[in-house]
Amino acid sequence: MDDERDYLIRLKKYKESKNHTELRYCSRCGRVFPYSGAGEAICPQCQKKEQEDFDRVKAYLKDHHATENEVSEATGVPVDTLTKWAREGLLCFGEGLSGLRCELCGKPISFGRYCTECQIKLKKKGYMNSRFGSGKMRFAGRDDK
Ligand SMILES: [Zn+2]
Ligand SMILES: [Zn+2]
Repeated sequence: MDDERDYLIRLKKYKESKNHTELRYCSRCGRVFPYSGAGEAICPQCQKKEQEDFDRVKAYLKDHHATENEVSEATGVPVDTLTKWAREGLLCFGEGLSGLRCELCGKPISFGRYCTECQIKLKKKGYMNSRFGSGKMRFAGRDDK
């Protein structure tokens, strides 16, 4: 009971001191930390660790042409994390070296979510849609005046 009250008092004080941040549990280690409201809920300690891991992987990839598994073994960073970074386009493994597959056609890719061909296809589609949408709106606006 007391613990909970303490926590609520601290939380209230914290909210009073910083209006726009909230306390969250870190999704990695479970620690409570002030969350800025942007991105994944990861505490500063875990963020720092991830940044260090990332720098290590980046440095390793500069000198080595290696698969995800080899990079994971050499740097101690889990393959899952490497795949996540590659998917987000933060890392670029050579063709076929990462475990990534195009989400549309299943072809091996080196980074991101889609292969070049599917990216072009998607871009064409998106471009046409957005052009159609904004063009129509602008047109309607002009008509009103
Ligand atoms: Zn954490
Ligand atoms: Zn594809």
